[in-house]
Amino acid sequence: MGSPSALQVLNERIIACERCARLRAYCTEVAAVRRRAYADQEYWGRPVPSFGDPEARILVLGLAPGAHGSNRTGRPFTGDGSGDFLYPVLHEAGFASQPRAFHREDDMRLTDLWINSVARCAPPGNKPTPEELRNCAPWLDEELSLLTQLRVVVCLGRIAFEGLLAWALRTGQIASRAGFTFSHGAEYTLPSGLHMLATYHPSLQNTNTGKLTRPMFLAIFERARQLADHPAYP
Ligand code: SF4
Repeated sequence: MGSPSALQVLNERIIACERCARLRAYCTEVAAVRRRAYADQEYWGRPVPSFGDPEARILVLGLAPGAHGSNRTGRPFTGDGSGDFLYPVLHEAGFASQPRAFHREDDMRLTDLWINSVARCAPPGNKPTPEELRNCAPWLDEELSLLTQLRVVVCLGRIAFEGLLAWALRTGQIASRAGFTFSHGAEYTLPSGLHMLATYHPSLQNTNTGKLTRPMFLAIFERARQLADHPAYP
């Protein structure tokens, strides 16, 4: 069983991380300057810790915090457009206690689901560099070793999908990326039995244009639950 305290300790270490000078400087500056609409709020401004149920069977793997979303609130997908799309779907699918996420102390509870991302600091233009993704990968490695009930990883977008494949390569589960192609709804099962499920990222760019609709996204999480329940899982 995964230890909640070990995950909490890991989160504290992530919050204190300074490996990426460019990202730390950017997050700190955004937190100091602030967006006018949030001028009266104190921004989090640090690496964003993971959030959810330590016994989760399903992981939602995102890209990176939003500069004025979780870099402001300190909790994944809380306080931005992506979260406004994600949490209502998680609530409808039975994973989130409430449909809206405003603040890290808004009493949101997740059941059977954990959320993190391949980069834990907000990057300029939502684009972490390959080096920054490599810097952040050890946090994912440690976290995945502590989430012992995990059966399904829902990868939000191509970079998260590639990030999970990089983890599978590092841990020797696969020898190459050959045969793994990102597309919305793509499913793969790693030799360990862990299921990968890919979806378009719930960014405003995708949701405002209809590339990702709420029914499409809900279907992903219904499928994730089916995979987690799959009787053939070892
Ligand atoms: S992106 Fe990751 S590795 Fe880089 S400073 Fe933030 S937490 Fe540390």
